[in-house]
Amino acid sequence: MASVLFRFARDLRLEDHAGLAVAARHGVIVPALIIDPVLHARVAMSPRRASFFVHAVRALDEALRAQGSHLIVRRGPLRPTILALAGELDVRAVIWSASYDAAAMREESDLRAALEERGVITPIVHDAPAIPPEETAAAKLAPGEGYRALAPYIDVWRSREVTSHEAPLLMRFAEVNIESEPLPDENDFALTDVDDDATPSGAARKLKTFLRQDALQYDVAVNVPADVRTSHLSAHLSFGTIAARTVVRETKHRADDPFLLAEERASLRRFLRSLAQRDFFLQLSWYQPQTQSEPLQSKMRQFPFRTTHEHLEAWKEGKTGFPLVDAGMRQLHATGWMHPHVRSIAASFLCFDLEVDWRVGVEEWDRYLIEDEPALAAGNWQWVAGVGADLAAYPRIYNPVKGARRFDPEGVYARTWIAELAQGMARAPQSQPALPLFGKNGYPPPLLDHEQAARSFLERYSAFVNAATPADAPRSNR
Ligand SMILES: Cc1cc2nc3c(=O)[nH]c(=O)nc-3n(C[C@H](O)[C@H](O)[C@H](O)COP(=O)(O)OP(=O)(O)OC[C@H]3O[C@@H](n4cnc5c(N)ncnc54)[C@H](O)[C@@H]3O)c2cc1C
Repeated sequence: MASVLFRFARDLRLEDHAGLAVAARHGVIVPALIIDPVLHARVAMSPRRASFFVHAVRALDEALRAQGSHLIVRRGPLRPTILALAGELDVRAVIWSASYDAAAMREESDLRAALEERGVITPIVHDAPAIPPEETAAAKLAPGEGYRALAPYIDVWRSREVTSHEAPLLMRFAEVNIESEPLPDENDFALTDVDDDATPSGAARKLKTFLRQDALQYDVAVNVPADVRTSHLSAHLSFGTIAARTVVRETKHRADDPFLLAEERASLRRFLRSLAQRDFFLQLSWYQPQTQSEPLQSKMRQFPFRTTHEHLEAWKEGKTGFPLVDAGMRQLHATGWMHPHVRSIAASFLCFDLEVDWRVGVEEWDRYLIEDEPALAAGNWQWVAGVGADLAAYPRIYNPVKGARRFDPEGVYARTWIAELAQGMARAPQSQPALPLFGKNGYPPPLLDHEQAARSFLERYSAFVNAATPADAPRSNR
């Protein structure tokens, strides 16, 4: 039987795998991992991310060994490395799961062209999203473009069935006898401990536990910073130790329980919306890869965001004097994850209170986040900064003081992550407080007046938008 080369990257599992299902149709699978400069650079950005990746790769190799095969590891630029490997193995097909970040997409497009020139088959396979971009794009009046607005996308997404690629009939892995380099380890990356069990079985356990109880309270958890009951699946989804398809199917299955209360059903629906939002940003990047580095809204491409600010370091260090913002940054430093609602508040503070470019924020968080989802990072940061897919007429500027009063009224979240406040603060500060714990060695008072900063930003924003010519206006909303 012919063999086919399968290149793993951010799809580190054997279960419910769209790429492997396609590969299985072409022959016995030779599994490979290429640590190319683009993948290396992304993974190396954060030591926790690198550790997650290294563990997940190890688990993948073990799963392959249990099937009589193993990973062939090579290091080097993607195109020549794959071409050499494909030549060595004399395969007629090379398959991988598509990437959704601009740099990897460019590499993969070059590679595809070079392989096709040599008569090697390279079908495009979408594994990361639950619903492939082409499927939702086909529902558009102008197919082939994808969606630029979330609401109509979600309607189409909800109407689509999620395919399962569990246990394809013919899937077999080759007993390979060609040279392999060592699995990635501390010689490739700076590593540190992660709490997560970075394996497919760890992901499956996490999903099962989440769906049993926490998912039924997701509607609350996703808003309340101190509530830890969101899924915490982002790293697993980003490295493919679980398929988004599996998560969606299992969630829908959970929603079939006839004994759920209406609010529990609403929570599951809200969770599915988050997964749909993930697919939305993946398809946005697939059709508009330039949005990785520039605003989706053409009128905002020239907006003069600052590249720095006298309080930028304080924002990075979690020392702005706004507890929600600071606790979020410190949670990120301590764990490699930040609560979803706090992400919006901390990002809004950077973009509007400090008027600093969203790209500075993406880069800063990339130094700590475990998950590696550039398309989701850019999509969400642009959304918050008011330059992306959000169609609100004005940017939504979050008020970090009101946010604390409403969502962390007892200061539980703030006290968990801000050591200086752990003992002293009974309640989240409602205005600029003058307590002994705020001072030289304690927690700082707010570094700026939020209301004033927000107004000043809106003035600049209005002046800029009013000066923009109609030709700069955003294109179709859909
Ligand atoms: C400014 C900002 C930056 C962000 N940067 C990233 C990032 O770099 N990487 C990343 O994976 N997510 C990012 N998000 C989205 C979201 O905050 C995280 O996915 C979520 O906090 C991860 O926690 P969880 O796994 O418990 O998510 P849950 O709330 O349990 O959601 C389940 C999954 O749905 C997806 N999801 C949830 N919310 C969103 C969303 N707003 N957009 C797209 N997908 C979503 C994620 O894959 C998540 O793991 C960002 C959000 C904001 C506001």
